[in-house]
Amino acid sequence: MKAAVVRRWGEPFVLEDRPTPVPRAGEAVLKLRAAGVGLTLLNMRGGRFGGETPRIMGHEVSGDIVAIGDGVDNVKVGDRCTVYFYLVCGHCRWCRGGRETLCEKFGGYIGVHRDGGFAEYVSLPAGNFLKIPDGLDYEGAAIAADAVNTNWHCMRERACINPHDDVLLIGAGGGLGIHGVQVAKLFGARVIAADISEEKLALAREWGADETINVRAVGDVAAEVKRLTGGKGAEAAVDYVGHGKTFQSAIDSLAVAGRAVIVGAGQGDVTFNPLGLILSERIVTGSRHSTRAEFIETMEVMARGVIKPVIGKRVHFTDVERLFEDLKDERLLGRGALTYA
Ligand SMILES: [Zn+2]
Repeated sequence: MKAAVVRRWGEPFVLEDRPTPVPRAGEAVLKLRAAGVGLTLLNMRGGRFGGETPRIMGHEVSGDIVAIGDGVDNVKVGDRCTVYFYLVCGHCRWCRGGRETLCEKFGGYIGVHRDGGFAEYVSLPAGNFLKIPDGLDYEGAAIAADAVNTNWHCMRERACINPHDDVLLIGAGGGLGIHGVQVAKLFGARVIAADISEEKLALAREWGADETINVRAVGDVAAEVKRLTGGKGAEAAVDYVGHGKTFQSAIDSLAVAGRAVIVGAGQGDVTFNPLGLILSERIVTGSRHSTRAEFIETMEVMARGVIKPVIGKRVHFTDVERLFEDLKDERLLGRGALTYA
């Protein structure tokens, strides 16, 4: 089979011929139909998630089950499936308590610690495959696997969005952010979208943002949020970019009892006044991906057409490097997608 391989972290993809995988006991093989490409992959390829090389990346994927190994009973040949991104034990207190992304025996990420789906086929533990509901296509299911389910978890469990909230989304025009706009609107919030270009802000408006802030034009994001909320601030602020400066803007934009949530791979430092946290009961926290149950819910909502995949550019998986160039230059609108036909 053909596979786009990273020979060493930090290097571009190289197209290789690899043996088509045969499923081991407890595993199943997926023939790829669609994949999503976003900023997380760029960080992974830079080596920030660890893992050994050479590696076939790709965790936001979908396709058809074409072979199953011994002992597999949750999927069968012919099932349309997508892939759960995390390798977790399934038995620890966090897995059993509905917070499996905090697994005590975390085994790493698909596409980083074992081969993923930037290839014609991939073999994975059968428990990582989830069936795609009727009404959701392969591309939508692939995007659900990270760009949408991450928001489902974030908005409901971490940012705790209510219909009366003003919600600031920093990086709202990117692959994660544009689906965050839709999820926050679905939970009834008034959405303030912040991003670095008018093009990205126009996209955020198109998908439901009520107000927009051009970060490069405004400078002081928090002051602008205060102005747009009558001096109150935002009840929730989600940072998809993950620079110290962007998360600082999220924290500084909060209303009393507001929640600042970091989603984008965090780097850099932030400061806040501990006494201020007491007096205002503001919360500064992070949100980590999604559980399998949240992922299933996400796909069900998407199958109803309530949340739609926003794809800025499609290329064949053998050209995945082109999408990485767009990501590096911060010019990809929404999610990138890969085709396999
Ligand atoms: Zn566990």
